[in-house]
Amino acid sequence: MKNEKEAAGGADSFDVVVIGGGPAGYPAAIRAAQNKLRVACIDEWKNRDGSAAFGGTCLNAGCIPSKALLESTELYHRVQEEFAAHGIKVSGATLDVAQMQKRKSGIVRGMTQGILALFKAAGVTPLQGHGTLGAGRRVDFTAHDGTRRALTARHVVLASGSVPIELRSAPFKPPHIVDSWGALDFETVPKRLGVIGAGVIGLELGSVWRRLGAEVVVLEALPDFLAFADQQLAREALKHFKKLGLDIRLGAKVTGAALAGGAVEVSYEDAKGAQRVGVDRLVVAIGRRPYSQELLGADSGVELDERGFIRVDEHCRTAVEGVWAIGDCVRGPMLAHKGKEEGVMVADLIAGRYGEVNYKVVPSVIYTAPEIAWVGLTEEQIKASGREYKSGVFPFLASGRARALEQATGFVKLLAARDDDEILGVHIIGPMAGELIAEAVLAMEYSASSEDLQRTIHAHPTLAEGLHEAALGADKRAIDSINR
Ligand code: FAD
Ligand code: AMP
Repeated sequence: MKNEKEAAGGADSFDVVVIGGGPAGYPAAIRAAQNKLRVACIDEWKNRDGSAAFGGTCLNAGCIPSKALLESTELYHRVQEEFAAHGIKVSGATLDVAQMQKRKSGIVRGMTQGILALFKAAGVTPLQGHGTLGAGRRVDFTAHDGTRRALTARHVVLASGSVPIELRSAPFKPPHIVDSWGALDFETVPKRLGVIGAGVIGLELGSVWRRLGAEVVVLEALPDFLAFADQQLAREALKHFKKLGLDIRLGAKVTGAALAGGAVEVSYEDAKGAQRVGVDRLVVAIGRRPYSQELLGADSGVELDERGFIRVDEHCRTAVEGVWAIGDCVRGPMLAHKGKEEGVMVADLIAGRYGEVNYKVVPSVIYTAPEIAWVGLTEEQIKASGREYKSGVFPFLASGRARALEQATGFVKLLAARDDDEILGVHIIGPMAGELIAEAVLAMEYSASSEDLQRTIHAHPTLAEGLHEAALGADKRAIDSINR
């Protein structure tokens, strides 16, 4: 039977075969097709109900479902905490977690089906199943129904993504000990939720369930909160997360988790010694690792580094001519937009066009409330570099728009070089920080100075004025806040 199917499928040749249809792989496939190349995109993702879907981690189990739940739960929280200040009295607001989850699933379904529509319009051949790279850019494709095809390609783009890291001392045991995907699918609000890891994913998931009433304890091994972020921003963030009621324990290294009577007993060590905390559900969010299981045949020639990332140069070329790798499976921040830009760059380079990724201006966003976003260097990094700098900080308390929103918390901080006024970093905590950071990214992409931003008109009253005022503040020329 298999041989018959093999014969029916036969060998197939493409200009480009992309393995992985997440936010790195599918844009690579679309751009390659736009460049008039014959393209196939292979993806093996299967949802819990067995359905296959393009979009990878981001659309199915990451960025999109988490943002859907963050939005719903923030609305629920605001109804209770904020509406009264607006003079809106709401009594008896109740929670329908099943409807919240249904809405989330609908958004995910719509977005993932959208990729198939984009492929159809661009002329990309979608292939749902597993791909393995062999020698000579041969790709063995096994469809979900077991049908096999041998594909050949002038170029192969590897975009196999990443998977959650499992903690040896607290292995996954759904539904009690889960990864981030599991934590996005809870059908009821756990009374006590434990989160291991105060990184971006841990904080977003902790916020979702805290806003719905769970008692949330976050255990973080490092002594510093958001150690990778600007520390002024991190201090402000910690204050707000504590106010929300997240019990964040720093310097707490988890050493074990035992199931007992439907609950989880978590052991950890901190400065005071061995500790324990009981929770009903435990989310392990200690990071992700590159995924390349059965991606590379023994003769592929592609190399992995000591941490399992596919080894590439700055243009995402592997050691094998015509084989490229992009997204979470290669070095750099594990972010959807970083993978997307790498995909577009590679597809353009393959077509003989110009392609470049400016890794210095990859924005980071944490979609909590308040939102947190930054681009470029932190104050600590600039200090360590020895470069003289100036700083402008605009508090949202002084923003008419933020006050009208009843969200006048946080600030915009802009750091610029003393010598040539180049913008070195922008750090925002406050309403819509994830949207506001785009202006800073554009400014830095165009090598703008803080004076360029100072001389740019910003509509009033908008949150974006915060960046304008922070730029003015860097030269002690802010109008709407006191220059310090
Ligand atoms: P993936 O999205 O992991 O896609 C890889 C695809 O390749 C998968 O579908 C996989 O099944 C398939 N595949 C792998 N091997 C093979 C093979 N051999 N054959 C066929 N198919 C294969 N990032 C952001 O930028 N913003 C956010 O807000 C954000 N939120 C997140 C929230 C959560 C809870 C999580 C877990 C992640 C979040 N991320 C976010 C990170 C983001 O999801 C990843 O950076 C992004 O998905 C990486 O894209 P990728 O295409 O490299 O890999
Ligand atoms: P991120 O990589 O941004 O998703 O963050 C993961 C976080 O988990 C990091 O801040 C790690 O310090 C933290 N972490 C890793 N292992 C443990 C552990 N055993 N106990 C508590 N926190 C941990």
